[in-house]
Amino acid sequence: MSDADHFSTLSVHAGEARQKPGDALTDPIFCASTYSFESTAAVLEYIEKKLPREEYGRYGNPNEKTAEKKLAALEGGEDAILYSTGMAAIVGLLMAKLSAGDEIVFFDECYHRSREFCVKHMSRFGVVTKQVKTGDYAALEQAITPRTKMLVSESPTNPHLSVIDLEQFVGVARKHGVETLIDATLGTPYNLRPIAAGIDYVLHSATKYLAGHNDLLAGVIIGAREKLEPVRKLRGILGAINSPHNIYLLLRGLKTFELRMERHNQNGLAVAQFLAGHPKVERVYYPGLESHPYYEVARRTMRGFGGLITFTVRDADWKQTARVVDSCRIPRIAPSLGGVESLIEQPLVMSYFDYAPEVRQSFGIYDNMIRMSCGIENTQDLIDDLRQALEQV
Ligand SMILES: *Cc1c(COP(=O)(O)O)cnc(C)c1O
Repeated sequence: MSDADHFSTLSVHAGEARQKPGDALTDPIFCASTYSFESTAAVLEYIEKKLPREEYGRYGNPNEKTAEKKLAALEGGEDAILYSTGMAAIVGLLMAKLSAGDEIVFFDECYHRSREFCVKHMSRFGVVTKQVKTGDYAALEQAITPRTKMLVSESPTNPHLSVIDLEQFVGVARKHGVETLIDATLGTPYNLRPIAAGIDYVLHSATKYLAGHNDLLAGVIIGAREKLEPVRKLRGILGAINSPHNIYLLLRGLKTFELRMERHNQNGLAVAQFLAGHPKVERVYYPGLESHPYYEVARRTMRGFGGLITFTVRDADWKQTARVVDSCRIPRIAPSLGGVESLIEQPLVMSYFDYAPEVRQSFGIYDNMIRMSCGIENTQDLIDDLRQALEQV
């Protein structure tokens, strides 16, 4: 099975053995740091790659293999490598792929820790990082030199929900023989299909929609097996793998992936439309609204638009904006997104409080901005809650 239209069948069954140890219906959790061999002959068979099996826990475990196969099937990719977090995944990929003298180009709305890793740390190993304005494909192409190895973007971006034209992005990369990486954490394999558009590597913080229950951290890179081989080898050295217990929770969360995504998409669109029509709301950033600058690209390339919405409160300073956040009864105040529980935050307070006002504004982070991740609660309950919260200012 690999057809993206059979999502729930894939998320329930893909990657799993039909008959499992102990005849259990669900995957048992394999708590083992190491794996024993029957004999020296069996060790040699394994070393000669005649016997696919486990060896030592840092190189993988049976639960991980199941999760990787399931995630590769959902994304429509050949292979997936699971990591302990989304950040471990991007660090693992870039460390395996980039060497001293190489250059990497980011669209500037990419996840700030990914850019920070390159600017502050890859630079110490001689890798040069360039950043260009998100969605400016001419600037992207101009930034490419013979040393450029990879183009990176997120889609949609956070918190502005800009959507990348993946075919244009791939077109620029292929013209210059450069690889591409898309952080599709907000896009999800349900709403966005980067592999089909020709993207080489897809990154997910599985912490968000894939696991979906705000109860674990994980990350994954999906792509062609051959290209991922050095990445997998390096992961065995870096050691950023997941515990079998953690993976069990991820597998369990994935079973309801399509059902959750349908509700996230429904809640996201309904709440965004409600906010767009509210007199106390100045601006709504949501790619499913016609007023959004990337609406056309989103409509062309996405199945749904997800649960994340950013909006600004009309004529409000940061304290009045905080009052709206504090008045909500359903969404909890927390960073993160993509889980069944709705979350709300004021980017200024949560992530940018120690930045100078001019710097924050240059990033498009305003004092009256609120970001909400719609969970899977009842749609009308979320709207009613926001309505009463907006009445407090
Ligand atoms: C959360 C997030 C990450 C980092 O993932 P972790 O699992 O927290 O390490 C990377 N990219 C995006 C878009 C994210 O939202």
